Parts: sequence; C-alpha cells; structure tokens
Amino acid sequence: MNIVLVTENEHKVREFKSLIDTGYTVVSIKDLEPNFKGAEENGTTFLENAIKKVEECTQKPDTLFLADDSGLCIDALNNQPGIFSARYAAGFSNVEDACDTLIDRVRSFKNKSAYFECAIAIKDMYGNIQSVSGTVSGVISDERRGSNGFGYDPIFVPDGYNQTFAELPVDLKNQLSHRYRALTQVNQLIKKLN
Ligand code: IMP
Repeated sequence: MNIVLVTENEHKVREFKSLIDTGYTVVSIKDLEPNFKGAEENGTTFLENAIKKVEECTQKPDTLFLADDSGLCIDALNNQPGIFSARYAAGFSNVEDACDTLIDRVRSFKNKSAYFECAIAIKDMYGNIQSVSGTVSGVISDERRGSNGFGYDPIFVPDGYNQTFAELPVDLKNQLSHRYRALTQVNQLIKKLN
C-alpha cells in the first residue's frame, strides 16, 4: 500500500513519515508531481480544509491520499489564528515575528490557554473519504523558547510540561502532538483498509 501525503510542507512530511506505521511506502505528492499546488483552503473548519485537499486527488489502486489541516487556536483571541495559522505567519517576514506578535497580543490576558488541532482526511482506492481529528492543549509562553520543530512550536507549552514544543525532544513532541493523536486514529483506519 502506498500513502501519498498531500502537503507541500516538508516539516509535516517528516513528522508524518515518523508517525505512520511501518510497512507502507510513504511519499510526498511533491515527489510524484513536482509542480503540485494544493487546493485553496477556503473551508471554515480544519476538517473542511483537509477534505478539500484530498478531494482533488484522483483515486488510484493500492494508494491512499492523506491530507491534514492544522493550526493553533488561542482562547484569548477567539481561537485565532486557527484555520488561518499558516496565512497569519505568512503576513510576517518570518515565523519568529508572528510568534512574538501572538505573545504580545495575549500578554495582558490572564487566560493564556491554547490548543493545536489537526484534522486529517484520507481518500482510499475506491474514492471514499474518511476523516479524523486530534488536539493537544496547553498555554502560550511569555517568550519564544527552543529551536526544534516548526511554526508556532516555540510559543506553545503543552499541558503537564514547562518547556515549549520547540524545547522538548522531537520524539516527545511527536508523541504528544495533535498530529500524533489524529494519526493514531488514521493508523487504525488504514489497518481496516488493508
Ligand atoms: P496548514 O495545515 O498547512 O494550513 O498549516 C498550518 C500551520 O499551523 C503551519 O504552517 C504552522 O504555522 C501551524 N502549525 C500546525 N501544526 C503545528 C505544529 O505542530 N507546530 C507548530 N506549528 C504548527
């Protein structure tokens, strides 16, 4: 069985490859179609966007297309940047500036709760689409800390820890993350499709 990751984000490809059960050939759609351009993310939820991304893929024998949509939702900011997480960061010259701005925006709030969400959609060889989602809760830190991971990892402290996702060992982040929680369910779905 081949699993094609429908994403242009190299960090996600690396995380997915380390999290999907062994025994499958996992490739990025960019390896198959170098000029691949993803679907427009115009849904109103993570789930809708993930589904849109696999809807565009033409079903193939022995192949599962897998796409995710994920982001950081901050309580004090009415769950922003949420589904706009990637676009929010793109509005700055680098993601560090986006992180610093979010820290500033929540500085005056007592409630610094936030969560990452990851929705994953899978299109199987028959064209059927199934979806799952996972979340991890935590708080926004008072400063950017750590250099592991990507995106908003340096400002997210998962519940039960004092370090940010970017300070925690990569393997530990991968075991706690919203993507891992969604992928655990994906691994169950894939087993049933085999
Ligand atoms: P998209 O799912 O490709 O729309 O991108 C989601 C965006 O949310 C990423 O570009 C990151 O900025 C952020 N994000 C999603 N998951 C993570 C994570 O595990 N760590 C840090 N940032 C993340």
